[in-house]
Amino acid sequence: MSKLHMVDLIGQYNKIQREIDEAVINVIRSSAYINGPEVKAFQRELEEYLGVKHVIPCANGTDALQVSMMALGLQPGDEVITASFTYVATAEVIALLKLTPVLVDVDPVTFNIDVDALEAAITPRTKAIVPVHLFGQCANMEKIMEVAQKHDLYVIEDTAQAIGADYTFSDGTTKKAGTIGTIGCTSFFPSKNLGCFGDGGAIFCNDDELATKIRQVANHGQSKQYVHDEVGVNSRLDSIQAAILRIKLRHLDEYNAARNQAAMYYNEQLDCEEIIVPETSSNSTHVFHQYTLRCKGVNRDELKAYLNEREIPCMIYYPIPLHHQKAYKQERFTDEDYPVTMELCNTVISLPIHTEMTKEGQDVVINGIKEFLKR
Ligand SMILES: *Cc1c(COP(=O)(O)O)cnc(C)c1O
Repeated sequence: MSKLHMVDLIGQYNKIQREIDEAVINVIRSSAYINGPEVKAFQRELEEYLGVKHVIPCANGTDALQVSMMALGLQPGDEVITASFTYVATAEVIALLKLTPVLVDVDPVTFNIDVDALEAAITPRTKAIVPVHLFGQCANMEKIMEVAQKHDLYVIEDTAQAIGADYTFSDGTTKKAGTIGTIGCTSFFPSKNLGCFGDGGAIFCNDDELATKIRQVANHGQSKQYVHDEVGVNSRLDSIQAAILRIKLRHLDEYNAARNQAAMYYNEQLDCEEIIVPETSSNSTHVFHQYTLRCKGVNRDELKAYLNEREIPCMIYYPIPLHHQKAYKQERFTDEDYPVTMELCNTVISLPIHTEMTKEGQDVVINGIKEFLKR
């Protein structure tokens, strides 16, 4: 059997190689490398897939978050609430814009922002909430939107890990992750569920005026050619990446289904006293960007070392809480406020999951874990 990997981008490419190669060559031959027709076409196709009025492509997921916060006019000192257990990018852009990051602990079952702690963290300076749909499953958007409306706050969904997930409200309406809040942000980093062959990202919103503002910020603050109304940034998706994404978007649902199938097999095989398998919340589908276990009564680091010695890949997302990172450490962040984040950083372990998983490959991972537990 071939070597196991956390993700298998080559295996995925091999199946769509002819289409991809042709699309890339066509862009090269057209020389429309920046803002070409492929970018427009991808934008429209993604709008249709998501059921959202505007998709604004940009250079990466981190930029998507930054441009969104700039377009909303957030000012230094404004407080922005996000989850304490997330990838650094979310907190990074808040700090970079001199906004004040307010970190809120997460729910131990879904790994997403704890909505009670969220409401308790709101102050008169709070301007926005950035829920992160971590590992592929939506945060409790019904409650988050309720809180946001009550306190007149913007909601910027970080859906870099959950593109394609569906969220269902208690009245039965279903929306795609990233289309519920004021703005949605995603990343097309190669290993994301919809990944290109380099960097890429996009911003989603339903408001015409806001969409115009976002486009303007992402394009040097330009309102008309060579007319600059404000300080912006340069953030765009290039045409080659857009051409690749158009092809991969057609496969996204099937890719997410393959991830689900692999996750269900792990769940079935690994559910035991020492291992807590991921639980799917009743309001959100899960697109399993990561398949993340929690260890109970067994040492996570020993399990990781044991698997890695046997060439079974696994990763820790995330080993160090944000409030312990040198860049984000502050006196107002104390361990007592983040019990779940602290516990997760010490107990989670993510297994290989991707669109090309085979039962054979999964069995190697599963048997490795079972052997470890039997020692
Ligand atoms: C990947 C990721 C980002 C950043 O995306 P880039 O394209 O790498 O800039 C932001 N937030 C989360 C939750 C992510 O997983």
